[in-house]
Amino acid sequence: MASLIDGKLIAAALRACIGEAVGQLQAQHGLTPGLAVVLVGEDPASQVYVRNKGIATKEAGMKSLEFRLPADTPQEDLLDKVRALNEDSEVHGILVQFPVPAHISQKAVIETISPDKDVDGLHPVNAGRLASGLIEGVGAALTPCTPQGSVILAKQTLGDLTGKHAVIIGRSNLVGKPVAQLLLHENCTVTIAHSRTADLPRLCRSADILVAAVGIAEMVQGDWVKPGACVIDVGINRIDAPEKGVGKTRLVGDVAFAAASENAAHITPVPGGVGPMTIACLLRNTLIAACRKHGLPEMDI
Ligand code: NAP
Repeated sequence: MASLIDGKLIAAALRACIGEAVGQLQAQHGLTPGLAVVLVGEDPASQVYVRNKGIATKEAGMKSLEFRLPADTPQEDLLDKVRALNEDSEVHGILVQFPVPAHISQKAVIETISPDKDVDGLHPVNAGRLASGLIEGVGAALTPCTPQGSVILAKQTLGDLTGKHAVIIGRSNLVGKPVAQLLLHENCTVTIAHSRTADLPRLCRSADILVAAVGIAEMVQGDWVKPGACVIDVGINRIDAPEKGVGKTRLVGDVAFAAASENAAHITPVPGGVGPMTIACLLRNTLIAACRKHGLPEMDI
């Protein structure tokens, strides 16, 4: 049976390290990293995400700013808000919670955020830096949080990833592509699969590291997993759970967890795997952005 990769525990440790680093920045340089989160509309799931990000930001000793705009906010007003945050010296990271209402272009929002404050790592400048292998040091990318968290989990579990065959199912800009770039940077041999990939089960069976980022509940079957593989399940899917009572639901990943656990050596649970790493990496990006803004060396976290 596979051992569990405890994302909650690893994320808590990462957040504690970030908290210590923030304390040092304040003590030595009088600098408090600031994260601004903008929410447009009242999507219930987004409200929970924004609240949790605010709590985590404050717990890490950072300054948390939250801006809640009505659902009918014109696009130009939102972009003006982002431009003002770009100029605000107390703000080192800006995150606009997606999805935004349909009348607002997500692309326009992403492209308005200053690349140096783009803690979601979605701006084309950051995507380009990542694709160019600029991942550490001066002029490096801010990389997307969930991919960063997925790779940290793989590294903490397996150590050096050099030479391992990583198969990533999913090619989105948010998850699949950046995970692939980050694993390439770790010297993996990377294959990206998607909805048109031929014989996906056979391809998956060749993976030492299998990353599922699809959005289809329990799609990856147990016999798709190579014996001894490390499975990172990024998917978050809500399904009916009649066993819990009428109208109840539960969260599952993109991997059929119980069956995959019989073949894998290591596997992330859902919930409690990749999910908690996302907020931890958002704080990490905010810390990195603050250090870069002030010309300070990046802390090794
Ligand atoms: P997305 O933009 O919808 O992309 C899904 C990808 O899966 C696409 O590249 C698509 O291929 C591929 N795909 C769809 N059906 C497939 C199939 N039958 N076989 C193989 N590939 C298939 O989704 P996303 O934003 O990347 O998110 C993926 C999952 O991760 C979702 O469950 C999401 O909720 C979850 N997620 C979790 C976190 C977290 O914090 N843990 C963060 C972000 C996302 P095509 O490109 O060919 O259409």
